[in-house]
Amino acid sequence: MKALLMRAHGDLSTLAVGETPSPTLPDSRHALVRLKAAALNHLDLWTLAGVPGISLKFPHILGGDGAGIVEEVGSDVRSVKPGDCVMFNPGISCYRCEYCLAGDHSLCVDYRLLGEHVPGTLAEFIAIPEPNLALIPRPPAPQPEISWTEAAAFSLVTLTAWRMLVTRARLRPGEVVLIWGVGGGVSLVALKIAKLIGAFAIVTSGSDDKLAKAREIGADVTLNHATGDVAKEVRQLTNRRGADVVVENVGEATWEQSLRALGRGGRVVTCGGTTGHNLITDVRRLFWHQWTIMGSTMGNHLEYQEIVRLLGQGELRPTVHATFPLERAAAALEELKSAHRFGKIVVQI
Ligand SMILES: [Zn+2]
Repeated sequence: MKALLMRAHGDLSTLAVGETPSPTLPDSRHALVRLKAAALNHLDLWTLAGVPGISLKFPHILGGDGAGIVEEVGSDVRSVKPGDCVMFNPGISCYRCEYCLAGDHSLCVDYRLLGEHVPGTLAEFIAIPEPNLALIPRPPAPQPEISWTEAAAFSLVTLTAWRMLVTRARLRPGEVVLIWGVGGGVSLVALKIAKLIGAFAIVTSGSDDKLAKAREIGADVTLNHATGDVAKEVRQLTNRRGADVVVENVGEATWEQSLRALGRGGRVVTCGGTTGHNLITDVRRLFWHQWTIMGSTMGNHLEYQEIVRLLGQGELRPTVHATFPLERAAAALEELKSAHRFGKIVVQI
């Protein structure tokens, strides 16, 4: 099959489209999917550079998100059949450990992500465990059908943001939520979920153009973090009360501001630290204000089913920034770094 092959860790020059053997069904509970589109995530750039503790077999295939047509199913697969149009949860768990048995698949002791730990979606075929698969839903008319591009762009960021806001932070209607960096995939979906819940959403960006787009999506207040003092503005907007929830994935560059923006009893939920991982928190402020700081990664299968159901109701449709053909997948990865990016980058296969 054709795939974007990564020959070694390094930069984009280690990538080239080439031929590699197609995957086969590893057991009776997998389905082989002929991919129509794959979506990129920042994770792909980190995997390319090399993640400490993860050793890959080369050539490796990047890409976590995808959508396609079921080509073949194992003998125990019941929920999909050849010809079905599917999307999938990119988090692969063991389905045997205590966390999997409790339904908390993203806490699995052997949790792996497509494209990070195992070969990914920038290829013509991929084998997916049955519990990870979902039929692409059909939203109600007059909404158009979900395109391959949208189906591929949906899963990783929507699942991540859903678990952060709904399961972990338990964001409620009327609460004030601060979301950093609204051009990024998770932050953009976090805004959509916050509005679906009925929360008051304050979003930031360093670009006024992105903030204007965020207002179209429903942001109640937009703040330019390049020119303003976000924590001070959040406190002014809330009569000095502060935000109930802060959605973090920036890390060192914003952590102090996130805590200064947080109200009494507030919750910070984080899924990453793109600007640095060592965060300083004054424990006196933590206990006095009775804050909760929580981590979140991906999500479980119930959460995935719930977001796919909402997509089928016409909610949470992905925002796509650009599409590229597989031949130009390396250029698509380069575009991930673009300061103008607003939404997902998708590779058509
Ligand atoms: Zn497990």
